[in-house]
Amino acid sequence: MILKGCCTFVIIYIPLIYKKRKINIHIERNKTKVIIIALQGVIIMTKIKVNDMLANYDKKNITIATVCSHSSLQIFNGAKKEGFKTLGISVGAKKKFYDAFPLGKPDEFFMVENYKDILKYTDELKEKNVIVIPHGSFVEYLGAEKFLKLSLPTFGNRDVLVWESDRNKERIWLEGAGLRMPAEIKDPHFIEQPVIVKYHGAKGGKNFFIAKTYEEFKKRIDRRKLFTIQEFVMGTRYYLHYFYSPIINDAYKLKKGSLQLLSMDRRDETTIDEVQRLGSIAELEELGIHPTFVVTGNIPIVMRESLLPKVFEMGAAVVQESEKLFGGIIGSFCLETVVTEELKFKVFEISARIVAGTNPYISGSPYSELIQTDLSTGRRIAQEIKYANKKNLLNKILS
Ligand code: AMP
Repeated sequence: MILKGCCTFVIIYIPLIYKKRKINIHIERNKTKVIIIALQGVIIMTKIKVNDMLANYDKKNITIATVCSHSSLQIFNGAKKEGFKTLGISVGAKKKFYDAFPLGKPDEFFMVENYKDILKYTDELKEKNVIVIPHGSFVEYLGAEKFLKLSLPTFGNRDVLVWESDRNKERIWLEGAGLRMPAEIKDPHFIEQPVIVKYHGAKGGKNFFIAKTYEEFKKRIDRRKLFTIQEFVMGTRYYLHYFYSPIINDAYKLKKGSLQLLSMDRRDETTIDEVQRLGSIAELEELGIHPTFVVTGNIPIVMRESLLPKVFEMGAAVVQESEKLFGGIIGSFCLETVVTEELKFKVFEISARIVAGTNPYISGSPYSELIQTDLSTGRRIAQEIKYANKKNLLNKILS
């Protein structure tokens, strides 16, 4: 009887289980294919639109524009250094503090009541031959959907947003590039080491928390929100600022184009980074005081030189994988990493445009100084636009 049962299991069920797995894998692959085909369609559409948007532009009078926030002082300063006119889209009241920084102040302010109004004025902005430089705040406050619809030539590939803003897709991209990411804990009952709980769409680390056990997790979690549980990686943080050009070949060469490392920073996050002034995290948690991860500033940093080959390998792999997935990332991007005591990198996030961590380097960083003196990320973006404009390649770097 037992023997008969075993035989039935081996002959009938094992092939069935195997077949089902195969079917699932097949469906997953097909799903991915469908997503990729759909995205390719979007990419083709945006490419056509870029050429349309640029058709009536006076290419000798390009204006670099961004929203007055985040890294705008740097962007305007860099654009001015490359001879561009600059326009600051100011949301709400005019930002008086720009008067105090004449070299970072835009030549012209364009006032709008709120972010979504930017969409209403695209014709007016097109008449000024505006090329938009998106930064973190621009995309966050305008909203991803409106940003994708914004009918203005925009630096970088906007299709990256789909892969960057969804944590699952981001993992497919980064792990597909061979990068190591913090382990994900699918079921909170299996929390056996310190974890960081991240809410989806949370701005700047807001409400993230650390838990060391399921009980701690249960006490703090807000089940109404979507969340991810990640291994809390022990080590030191480095936020790596890359610049990838698909059209210039004079840096770290890739199959197409080349990659630069312009700078790196460490974020200053309140209260986690200074909480120890009051006591250990464990002591404070007992009193109900929990550390938070809200970014308040950025600190310049360099890393030991022996880690640089890996930094370039990672950046190159991310670019190459992005080409397969959505036609390729363009321009500035940042890998947010932790270096462990075994000197291994774990990457917990990617930002696919200029990050505020580049702001300490308006007049160059210890890395960009080895490329050209006085080279910020903002200036490098302006150089890319200038070069592309001269060579009639703007549609290769804008979307
Ligand atoms: P994020 O919004 O993913 O950039 O995370 C906000 C902050 O949380 C980061 O700047 C880090 O300080 C911290 N952080 C995020 N993920 C991890 C992780 N897996 N391990 C350790 N710290 C992390």
